[in-house]
Amino acid sequence: MNASFIKRPMLSVLRTLTVLSVVVAMEPALADASTSFAATRAQWNQPAEPFRVIGNIYYVGTDELAAWLVTTPNGHFLLDGGLPESAPLIEANIRKLGFRLADIKFLLNSHAHFDHSGGLAKLKQDTGAQLIASAGDQESLETGTYLGSERVIELSAPPVKVDQLAADGQEFQLGNVEMTAHLTPGHTRGCTTWTTRVLDMGVPHTVVFYCSTSVALNRLAPTEQYPGIIADYQRTFEQLMHLSADVFLANHKEFFNLWPKRETQKCGGTNPFINATEFHDFVLGSRLEFEQELQRQQGIEQ
Ligand SMILES: [Zn+2]
Repeated sequence: MNASFIKRPMLSVLRTLTVLSVVVAMEPALADASTSFAATRAQWNQPAEPFRVIGNIYYVGTDELAAWLVTTPNGHFLLDGGLPESAPLIEANIRKLGFRLADIKFLLNSHAHFDHSGGLAKLKQDTGAQLIASAGDQESLETGTYLGSERVIELSAPPVKVDQLAADGQEFQLGNVEMTAHLTPGHTRGCTTWTTRVLDMGVPHTVVFYCSTSVALNRLAPTEQYPGIIADYQRTFEQLMHLSADVFLANHKEFFNLWPKRETQKCGGTNPFINATEFHDFVLGSRLEFEQELQRQQGIEQ
């Protein structure tokens, strides 16, 4: 990937992915890589203070990995579960905000990677909620494996059963709140971007919970990670560019500048999570990174 297109805050995610790829290589002598992987995991799982982001949407994740509570008078949605070891922190955050685990009716997932789906099995057990995911990620979730690195224990997650499949454009309703699934495959086969609408100071906003479009450990060439992955990425970029949202939320803090925005929010005034252009700017940058990585893997000189 060419660093010139990467916003500085994203670098730590990329560094971590480099660590992951070393672990995936599974060279027996690379004890250092495993140690460094464990340290990164611990860092990602640092506790964080939960807070209301906008309207009925609350941040209940760890310092690095987002989990989103979307509340309604008829029960709540919980999107993503962080690492397996994040579940107790997410549960504590939900309680700290005054909400009950038993009121969570639907568990949603952005994608079946251990750092976003790892906590779902425990969260499902403790809430009794139904897990909704797309068909493309069902197998990974139910086997607890990482697509393309199925035998790498470090990248595995506790298996969790999917109760309902989400189709593209399908809406899931609780009370007066709808969460809409947008199938945005590539990063994983079932990568799902979710949207909802909120009111802030009487003004309606569209919120996007972006899945991911990074290449991460995926093979694009000469053999595709899964048949059609390149076409999936390309369709997904098109789809995301046609999706308009003025509140950009994601599953890694660096993607959307989480904590600096939170600090600004504490000062009052206009909600810093509202930004009409940030989401498309991010997607454009990600698309450039994808195209460069595709060319690199295809062996074309830059
Ligand atoms: Zn991922």
